[in-house]
Amino acid sequence: MTVIGCSGSFPGPQSPASCYLVQADDEAGRTWSILLDLGNGALGVLQRHLALDEIDAVLLSHLHPDHCLDVCGLYVTRKYSPARADGGRLPVHGPHGVERRMAEAYGGEEGSALARQLDYREWEARQPVRIGPFTVTPIPVNHPVEAYGLRVEADGQVLAYSGDTDSCPELSELFTAATLALADSAFVDGRDETRDIHLTGSRAAAAAVEAGGVQRLMLTHIPSWNDPEVCRAQAAAVWAGEVELAEPERTYPL
Ligand SMILES: [Zn+2]
Ligand SMILES: [Zn+2]
Repeated sequence: MTVIGCSGSFPGPQSPASCYLVQADDEAGRTWSILLDLGNGALGVLQRHLALDEIDAVLLSHLHPDHCLDVCGLYVTRKYSPARADGGRLPVHGPHGVERRMAEAYGGEEGSALARQLDYREWEARQPVRIGPFTVTPIPVNHPVEAYGLRVEADGQVLAYSGDTDSCPELSELFTAATLALADSAFVDGRDETRDIHLTGSRAAAAAVEAGGVQRLMLTHIPSWNDPEVCRAQAAAVWAGEVELAEPERTYPL
């Protein structure tokens, strides 16, 4: 898993908004590349890590701009790049209404043309999707819009990505026995009192503890106005192991 962007809610000076490149080989040795979210700013940094026509699918946790807006730019590359490969339509999985949302984001008459390059598919809660060696299960989570945590399994390893969420029972389902729980930690205990939007470090850690069997806990979606070490310390008060912080452009083998 390579962190393309991990800045919470908007791009920061050191990182785009949310985007994680996840790669695994199938039995024939072909490497599959999927993106968990494609937030604003991510498309630029992504090109330092793979050619854009090597993407096999885009998986959107929800339709806030910091998780989906660069789908518009990806469409442009598939439609207009002189070097574009004719690989057919690219699967873009997302919540209900994803096609309309992206058309509106692009705007104008061309908005509706995105579907000629992008094969939109709507998540159904807990219905696994197979993409090459990956099995991805969307688990509904607790955010002001339809939002999913994505449980990504391949080769016996489990990456459990919370997307944006506050505490909810479904996080146990999402995180249980995960190799790596990648958890929203945008809010800070003692500062952000609004509930049902984001986790804090301590709530992320509590969810991982309650889920059981989580091997690694990594905090992400930290906005640039947070001190990441405060988030880490709040999680470390609950999580017995090391609390990792997602770092842009770092690759984490699972
Ligand atoms: Zn967000
Ligand atoms: Zn959000």
